[in-house]
Amino acid sequence: MFHRVVPDEPTAFGLPSSYRLRGTALTPAELEHELDAAPAVVPLGAVENALLAGVAPPPGVVLTFDDGYREHLDVVVPLLRARGMSATFYLMTDIHGGGRQVAVVDAWYWTLDHAQRPELRVRLPGGNAFVARCDTREAKLAWVVGSAKRALLGASAADQAAMLRELAASAECELPADLAAQLYLAPGDWQRLADSGMRVGAHSLTHPRLTLLPDDALHREVSESIAVLSPLGQPATFAYPDGAFDDRVAAKVAAHAISAVTCEVGTVSGGQDRLRLPRRFVAGFA
Ligand SMILES: [Zn+2]
Repeated sequence: MFHRVVPDEPTAFGLPSSYRLRGTALTPAELEHELDAAPAVVPLGAVENALLAGVAPPPGVVLTFDDGYREHLDVVVPLLRARGMSATFYLMTDIHGGGRQVAVVDAWYWTLDHAQRPELRVRLPGGNAFVARCDTREAKLAWVVGSAKRALLGASAADQAAMLRELAASAECELPADLAAQLYLAPGDWQRLADSGMRVGAHSLTHPRLTLLPDDALHREVSESIAVLSPLGQPATFAYPDGAFDDRVAAKVAAHAISAVTCEVGTVSGGQDRLRLPRRFVAGFA
């Protein structure tokens, strides 16, 4: 499981980017190292076909890249193709480079990476304020993975928007109007991924915690994101946002997709549930 593949350039206060601190950014050279060290790379379809046939999949690893970042097409695909490898790319279908909406985590990270002031503040959904500096590595890491970030991920959409507004105000920086275009592939790029021999899967419409959604919203996030990608002509596969799923979510995905990937570590054997495929998080070396 990979996410961003970008140069390791300093951000606000000379610190590594939030992605780097979180472990979700590799440099292109680090990705090349991972690809060259990988055992046999197997397409997801080979695993799906084996599980459908009730046999163990071929030995090796499946490569996946989440969240539809722009560099997946112009940086990652050439590195894969030079090695005769293919991968599966899971993207959000309502959050993309042709729109204005940005994923909550990307907005949070952008603000931390561009903060103009060293002390930041947000009000948590319970009402308490979280006030802390962000100008040392340890302090920034607390914003990237600590209690305020966890509260953000578990908050309602309205509370998330309020937290992002307050964080940006305390940082004295506004999200650029074209941030989505800076971050993500546009819908026209999805076909290019498929035409490059890559598998394209759904990662919901807007990257919510699916386990927190009522049934109607869960249905939309799963079925509509899969339907938007159906013109690509590939079997539907799904990645649970933040790895969050339960029996209700998996049953909904099973009605629309042939496979789904989690964030639980493990290996796949012949009896593996196709809707709960394990993945190993590959972190950068920061
Ligand atoms: Zn994601």
